[in-house]
Amino acid sequence: MLNLCDPKTIRQVMDMFGLNFKKEFGQNFLTDNMTVEDIADACNDDKDITVVEIGPGIGCMTRELCERYSRVVAFEIDSGLIPVLKYTLDEYKNVTVLNQDIMTADLESVLAPYFEMGKVAVCANLPYYITTPILMKLIESKLPFDSITVMVQAEVAERLAAGAGNKNCGAITAAIDYYGHAELLFTVNADRFMPPPKVNSSVVRIDLWKDKPVVPIDEELFFKTVKAAFEQRRKTLPNSLMTGFSEISKERLTELIISCGHRPDVRGEKLSVRDFCTLSDAIYHELNK
Ligand code: SAM
Repeated sequence: MLNLCDPKTIRQVMDMFGLNFKKEFGQNFLTDNMTVEDIADACNDDKDITVVEIGPGIGCMTRELCERYSRVVAFEIDSGLIPVLKYTLDEYKNVTVLNQDIMTADLESVLAPYFEMGKVAVCANLPYYITTPILMKLIESKLPFDSITVMVQAEVAERLAAGAGNKNCGAITAAIDYYGHAELLFTVNADRFMPPPKVNSSVVRIDLWKDKPVVPIDEELFFKTVKAAFEQRRKTLPNSLMTGFSEISKERLTELIISCGHRPDVRGEKLSVRDFCTLSDAIYHELNK
């Protein structure tokens, strides 16, 4: 069996199908078997599940997922890789490869039959150019994914798993914390990829809440509050919120922030998901009084 992590083999397979690495699709293929196995192992504790892979490339991780889990559904945007995957995954009967852009794919209908069969988890070495949009699409889809295990740029991984009060945290941290619990698993050096990216990568696993521990009155307003709080990172919270809620005076916003138990010069990064819920509820009452 071909070793799809071996750089020479990767080159040969690409040449065989007349392909080159496409930068515009973030094609940095893993060249380390151990890393691929570790990611596949980390994906989920249950084996009788469906795993959704985003960007199978030439199929190195897809194979490991097929070995470990009952079913694999892989979305690959690059039509040039579809015949390659047919060749490299030929022996696996539990994989479905879809030539679709994950950003435009109708996940609800494509994945409906798999959710009927049981648990569904996501596992991917994500293309860097759209890491955050992909993660937001997955979690905002409201599909009941069990877990999302992804390799992303190390710096993004730190932000995803930062938790409140950490200098690395941002709007995405609050969004992820709202939908689940993120854990940073391990870091992978840039030299473990072909071609090597400019930065190191890390693997993060997000276990999605079955029941969210905190729920705001108005979810849209909650996300608007989070976005406004982080859009102007250097500003204090009353000033940042003014950009999102111009209909409320700065004095009133300051009063609301104090009434939620914060100092008026607090910055967004100090607030937990629970704090953001309380604050967006206060704003909700202010807007609806
Ligand atoms: N899984 C392989 C590996 O680990 O070696 C390849 C990972 S590579 C970082 C990213 C993969 O995602 C590429 O195969 C690329 O063509 C694919 N891709 C990029 N954008 C995509 C999109 N919007 N939808 C689906 N696949 C995409």
